[in-house]
Amino acid sequence: MSTERLYLNTPQQTQVVTQVVATRAGGFAVHTSPFFVGGGGQPMDTGVVSVGGGNYRIEQVDVDGDDVVWHHSAVPVAVGQSVDLVVDKQRRRTLSRYHTALHVLNTLALTHYNAWITGAQMSEEYARIDFAIEWLDPAMLSDLECRMNDVLVGYHPVHYRYLTIAEFAQRGDLLRTKNVHPPAYRGQVRVVEIEGFDAQACGGTHVESTHEVGSCVIYKSENKGKQNKRLYIRFA
Ligand SMILES: [Zn+2]
Repeated sequence: MSTERLYLNTPQQTQVVTQVVATRAGGFAVHTSPFFVGGGGQPMDTGVVSVGGGNYRIEQVDVDGDDVVWHHSAVPVAVGQSVDLVVDKQRRRTLSRYHTALHVLNTLALTHYNAWITGAQMSEEYARIDFAIEWLDPAMLSDLECRMNDVLVGYHPVHYRYLTIAEFAQRGDLLRTKNVHPPAYRGQVRVVEIEGFDAQACGGTHVESTHEVGSCVIYKSENKGKQNKRLYIRFA
């Protein structure tokens, strides 16, 4: 049975008490997990599993072909046992803030500079994003930074909704990259909407409103090839 993934619809819930449904060497699966499994340039969550008065680190999770999330841990658990799972909240929040900022930046880059994403990476210190464009100049960077902060300081709530794969195929406006298919979960594509600004297909975690990101600076850019330019952002 596939794992119920809390982060998809209630990313603010980073803790849950749930039941172990399967075990394997060095890991276990549960009915409901708050752990983000990684993807789209966002690293997987880390955290703790508590059981029987002991706390054990979870530094890695993965998903198998049946959509079961496996938590890597040395915790001794058995099927049917109740466990308390807690995601490292501050780390998740930082990654979610960067992730939300990248949505704003990628939409502005596509709208104003016809720049499609070719890659992205988030960390706790900074985030970077690659665009398929031939040129980059300081005026463009400062324009993007300015526009990005205009959106971020607004109180734009973030919403989640779902389309079937067939419905999604009709919605080219929800794509920000040409070379990667968005993740489908239980046959549906998740759409992340920043109210009053944009909507795009995405499987990651985000903050609840853009003002939680605060302002950002584009502090560096790199030429990664004729059709590839990399921008780095961090919190101001
Ligand atoms: Zn996203």
